[in-house]
Amino acid sequence: MEENEKYMRRCIQLARNGLCQTAPNPMVGAVIVCDGRIIGEGYHVRCGEAHAEVNAIRSVTEPSLLRRSTLYVSLEPCSHYGKTPPCADLIIEKQIPRVVIGCRDPFPKVSGRGIQKLLDAGCEVTVGVLETECRQLLRRFITFHTLHRPYITLKWSQSADGFIDINRTGGTPAQLSDTYTLMLVHKRRAEHSAILVGTRTALLDNPSLTVRHWYGPSPVRITIDRQNTLPSDLHLFDGRARTLVFTETPHAEQPGVEYIQADFNQPLLPQLLESLYQRNLQSLLVEGGATTLQTFIDAGLWDEAFVETAPECLHDGVAAPVLNRKKIACTEQHFGRFIRHYWEREDWL
Ligand SMILES: [Zn+2]
Repeated sequence: MEENEKYMRRCIQLARNGLCQTAPNPMVGAVIVCDGRIIGEGYHVRCGEAHAEVNAIRSVTEPSLLRRSTLYVSLEPCSHYGKTPPCADLIIEKQIPRVVIGCRDPFPKVSGRGIQKLLDAGCEVTVGVLETECRQLLRRFITFHTLHRPYITLKWSQSADGFIDINRTGGTPAQLSDTYTLMLVHKRRAEHSAILVGTRTALLDNPSLTVRHWYGPSPVRITIDRQNTLPSDLHLFDGRARTLVFTETPHAEQPGVEYIQADFNQPLLPQLLESLYQRNLQSLLVEGGATTLQTFIDAGLWDEAFVETAPECLHDGVAAPVLNRKKIACTEQHFGRFIRHYWEREDWL
């Protein structure tokens, strides 16, 4: 059993490499072991490309060894034709005699079908090795398909005395991040399909919300502009990444900007999240400001939060959001700054 967990951990580690590129597909990793030695590894690199099992099988230099190997994979092999042929068929074709699976497919319609196919072909199948960890790896995918909304991450930086910014009507925002934490912010942007700021932040901070201090694609940018008051020369409208604007009265489109009509007499968040769901945007990073973040918190619409607390005090200003339920996952300390990682829910497990 310890053997199984060791190789499953490697699958999870490999799967995480796909974090920025696989959405809306799940992250999956696979390892092939023969005589106590890893002879092949792979992960799902990018949506539309080969699945983890295919990449792992392709990486084996001596294919004859497959007939006496064990394939470890973090998610049940698929059994249906999608953009690629079913992985269960390939495993059977290659005559791999043993398959160890982290967790079943979370889609009720197909869950267990891949396993059954393998069993029917005479494969020895073990299911549920590091199941919790494997499902956690799929948390964005599972949240999206069960709650029909993107997985929501909140992020903000606050001063030691609990302010997110100074009081201002213009000028530059209080700089609470350092070079390292700024890099982390950009890394998190690359890991999400979409990023959102409220009207005030879009106007006052004029953020570009693109990924510049890390690798990976820029997320789809989202803002709210009820009465179309945001000037068209903001960075958000520069066409460098796709932008969605929620407004009462959609107006002429400009390149890369989509205006989406919302009913502002009704709660906005459900409408906004439904639109993102329709557009297949699986994860959302909310970067501000305080009011927008608090709206998500009060509605219970968040899944995890990263809160950076700087060593400096601002003494006055805009109060930082307050998390209603707090379960700290971990605290990272960096030159007097704390980055606390909170979880709202674990019920997706
Ligand atoms: Zn597959």
